[in-house]
Amino acid sequence: MKSAWSDRGAAELVERYAADGIGEDLALRVYTTRLLGSEPRLVMHGGGNTSVKGRARDVTGADLDVLYVKGSGWDMGTIEPPGLPAVQLDPLLALAEIDALSDEDMVNLQRRNLLDSKAPNPSVETLLHAWVPRTFIDHTHANAALVLTDQPHGEEICREVYGDRAAIVPYIMPGFDLAKAAKAAADAHPEAEGLVLLKHGLFTFGDTAHEAYELMIEFVSLAEARIEGGRRSVFAAASMPGAVASASEIAPAVRGMLANRRSIEGGGPEFERFILEHRASPAILAYVGGSELSRYSQVGTVTPDHAIRTKPLPVVLSAPPAGDLAVWAGEARAAVDAYRKAYAAYFERHNPRYGGTKRMLDPSPRVVLVPGVGLFASGRDARAAAAAADLAETSVDVITDAESMDRFESISEAELFDIEYWSLEQAKLAGAKEKALARHVVVVTGGAGAIGRATAAAFRTAGAEVALFDLPGPALDAAGEAGAGLAVPCDVTDDASVDRAFSIVAARFGGVDILVSNAGAAWRGPMADVTDDVLRESFELNFFAHQRVTRAAVRMMRAQRTGGCLLFNVSKQAVNPGPDFGPYGLPKAATLGLVRQYAIEHGWEGIRSNGVNADRIRSGVLTDEMIASRSEARGVSEDAYLRGNLLGREVRAEDVARAFVSLALARATTGAILTVDGGNVAAALR
Ligand code: ZN
Repeated sequence: MKSAWSDRGAAELVERYAADGIGEDLALRVYTTRLLGSEPRLVMHGGGNTSVKGRARDVTGADLDVLYVKGSGWDMGTIEPPGLPAVQLDPLLALAEIDALSDEDMVNLQRRNLLDSKAPNPSVETLLHAWVPRTFIDHTHANAALVLTDQPHGEEICREVYGDRAAIVPYIMPGFDLAKAAKAAADAHPEAEGLVLLKHGLFTFGDTAHEAYELMIEFVSLAEARIEGGRRSVFAAASMPGAVASASEIAPAVRGMLANRRSIEGGGPEFERFILEHRASPAILAYVGGSELSRYSQVGTVTPDHAIRTKPLPVVLSAPPAGDLAVWAGEARAAVDAYRKAYAAYFERHNPRYGGTKRMLDPSPRVVLVPGVGLFASGRDARAAAAAADLAETSVDVITDAESMDRFESISEAELFDIEYWSLEQAKLAGAKEKALARHVVVVTGGAGAIGRATAAAFRTAGAEVALFDLPGPALDAAGEAGAGLAVPCDVTDDASVDRAFSIVAARFGGVDILVSNAGAAWRGPMADVTDDVLRESFELNFFAHQRVTRAAVRMMRAQRTGGCLLFNVSKQAVNPGPDFGPYGLPKAATLGLVRQYAIEHGWEGIRSNGVNADRIRSGVLTDEMIASRSEARGVSEDAYLRGNLLGREVRAEDVARAFVSLALARATTGAILTVDGGNVAAALR
């Protein structure tokens, strides 16, 4: 591993922070923490921390010895000085004299000695940083170090590689006891430049930030050199069906299997869904394609803190043959059910050690291994799924290398349980309460237009992952770049294009729960004069396209078996036609029929179908030019025209968006049309 240290980069940061009154040591502590945090082979998603000991002055002018230590919730790669809160050192040192300390008391003591009462919680490894009497301390879960220690002769290999340069600490769960063991090891080897924590990670020490960082890189490089020495072809390939189904073909079924059924009392959704992230690098494919996958994948995590995001074990499915997936899906569902049962049994085996006080977490696997296809990771949103996928990919790398040397070993099942159910680890995942539509995937057609974008924004605010379908072009690109959602080029009047677009969504998020079929455009002309071509063109977009995307969405929803929600942008024209708007109103009337038809045919499987009748909204359908000509024809101002309704209020794209979201949440409503027109008795449904 190469050092990323740059004298210039370091000097720049020192200078920048000096302006804020921040000293050189803390500035350089921030600098090298970022270097460590930006290298995924060292640190990933909360797995690592750093510290520096120094002096700080409180408001009375008293100078105090403090430990600046990484605060939880900060990403090391982008950390700022407030991410390394100062804790008074003396009270932490005094704790070394006592024999035992509960986690709660430890957290409380650390918090009450913060110089800033509003600072984040100091790292769970704070006491270790405090008790090892070195100025700069770096800690990572470096892949290379895990490879060496996650195997039967790990300790021996580390002694060989590091000699007296590192003291070795046996595996102990982070917290008070680990800090004690680390202190004992460091005290017994005062010449040591660092610590190897078996099956956990590395610590390095230095008098300067630069020294501790370079030592970390050197320790990792020594481990890497040792691994290269053991490298050989690692996994013998298992036999595979001639042609294997693609990730996007199986993703909806997999996503549906992972969803936890839950009680509908209290009005929540019937399923606790997950968002999926698929990965299939050559290393992953070799790993999941190995004939001994069911052995080396079922050992445990490569470093303990992965357990909170990946659970201790992944589920293994069989390779899906291309073509008919029915038999494969049945077997896969059985495998996931067996996983849930085994998880519940694991919980029952270990909860008694805690006097039965723990509450079982949801039993769904977070990582799914599929030979020939790769891995799927799951999370409550795309970010969490990506984080779990990062850790799963790291595990593949570490286990592959460990198996290349000898045999992968993890900590014991009891130790895995202790970490997974450790309140201090679970606190890392706790955050704001989940939003109403978290865990849902929404497709919005006509996504780049005014109503489409407003709808995407409203669903994102409600916590959903959103895909925008629209014709390729600058409007779609701009919506994607503005973060409105996943921009998917799609011509809704073309079967192949629609299928491709849904495949993209399945590959990206795992499936779809809510379809907002919104794309539309107005064609005009008196019926006596209009050509069949114009009429057919309008029917193509304003009716057949709705049917086409809905059919594709329903297919995916049925593969998921977790219900779904279809939402249609109809129009008041469907029930209250205006002169010359036949070419627009007639297909919309058919689409209103479509809303009801889907409601009738799919209610039994939890798929709801509802529509919105909106009117007089500035959009791609009602263009500025049309507003000008219509208000002129009525002899009123444009503003008066737009506000020509019972409420005297202009209806906006955001109002339509809110209506779609409310219908998505209305779990007992199907076959309904909601008007969003400011009040128009002639357009009211009976
Ligand atoms: Zn650690």
